[in-house]
Amino acid sequence: MKNESGKTGRGPGDWRGQMRAAWRSPDALKERFPSMRVTDAMRAAAARFPMAVTPHYASLVRTPDFSDPVFAQCVPSPGELVEAPWASADPLGEVPSTPVPHLVRRYPDRAVLLAATSCACYCRHCFRKRVSGAPDAAISPSELAAAAGWLRTRPEVSDVLVSGGDPLTLSDSRIRGILETLASVPSVRVVRVGSRLPAVLPQRFTPALVRILAAPARRPGGPAVYLMAHFNHARELSPESLAAMRELVDRGVPVCSQTVLLRGVNDDADTLEELFRALYHARIRPYYLFQSDLAPGIEHLRTPLETGPRLMRELRARLSGPALPNFCLDPPGGGGKIELSPDSVVRRSPGATLLRNGRGEEFLYPDPDPSAGGVR
Ligand code: SF4
Repeated sequence: MKNESGKTGRGPGDWRGQMRAAWRSPDALKERFPSMRVTDAMRAAAARFPMAVTPHYASLVRTPDFSDPVFAQCVPSPGELVEAPWASADPLGEVPSTPVPHLVRRYPDRAVLLAATSCACYCRHCFRKRVSGAPDAAISPSELAAAAGWLRTRPEVSDVLVSGGDPLTLSDSRIRGILETLASVPSVRVVRVGSRLPAVLPQRFTPALVRILAAPARRPGGPAVYLMAHFNHARELSPESLAAMRELVDRGVPVCSQTVLLRGVNDDADTLEELFRALYHARIRPYYLFQSDLAPGIEHLRTPLETGPRLMRELRARLSGPALPNFCLDPPGGGGKIELSPDSVVRRSPGATLLRNGRGEEFLYPDPDPSAGGVR
């Protein structure tokens, strides 16, 4: 049943109501988009990987088909049924890097706490499908205590990313408990909370949650808390999302954003420029543009590897430094991020380097004159 604003009567502004009202199958989503075409292949994809579309995220769809960048990110596609031989349920090699349940350590100074398995919206490009949408297995108090105990024995780990699933789908009291537990480990100086809710469920950022996220850093000696958002298209920066992010930044919670490069969604320079410019204007730092990982069900969204550096070269000519993310990929099986920078160095020759800027213009940059000597 639609109301006068064109939205269905489901999903009031309350975030829990939005989650309850999420559409969880292509056939159910026809209630919101009667003209939507549902095929057996879409049903089969939804049976393979879970689906949830919040009323808020659905309100950002303009045409209910896969040409729409919001629709393509949340509705199961026949392309998800392609079995790529290189696809892995654990493309980053996290499972072998798990010293205690729910904790992943792939870098010397950082760890990831997988706190939840549920998400408000199941992104079709998710690289962690082995976790997201798994039967609810949020971290228990005893598992959290064990993870904190492990961190106490590894003082070199100073930065913990709380992830999942989406950790902000947990209740306020559980989120507070996780932050307080991590803050009780003296060597943890930074806690980052990774969440897709800024884009798909901004109603989650109630005044109470904003206070919880801001609290640890306000205590003397408390860790800094960052929100690591995930925006892939400028349309996701709805008025509700911008208001929520403004509250966080005003309260002293820095917000960064990572973006996944997705075919047909954001793989052109104009779309990415609009997104990164809008994030920058909203005081949200775009910090990574990721190549899609080799996870199952995402071949239709994956771009060839040369696309990212080519787009970054174009963007470098259009945007100032703080608005530009680094383009990275995680190599199959682990090993840590690799930054792929645009080819600015065309050629090196004795005494000089030939450079190319974002507009394709070339410049010869000389090495220092050896006759000038040096101070050392
Ligand atoms: S919110 Fe994050 S964990 Fe959940 S489906 Fe999207 S990308 Fe995956």
